[in-house]
Amino acid sequence: MSEPENSGDSLVLERTPVEGSCPRCGAEELRRYPVIAETGWLEVVKCQNCLLSTERTPWNRLGPIQLLVDMI
Ligand SMILES: [Zn+2]
Repeated sequence: MSEPENSGDSLVLERTPVEGSCPRCGAEELRRYPVIAETGWLEVVKCQNCLLSTERTPWNRLGPIQLLVDMI
């Protein structure tokens, strides 16, 4: 079994690599992933080098949890 030993870490969501480079630091380290904000879930594209957000779009209200009604 290859169970990671870092259980108890905060929730890690999948980070999708995005093509392009950061407008601030120039690193090609852009990733798209959902984050929770005061206003609810957002999907952001963030530079992993300097943490600049280049895109912020509202995501579904409950994040990874899909409401049944959303699937009808
Ligand atoms: Zn950057």
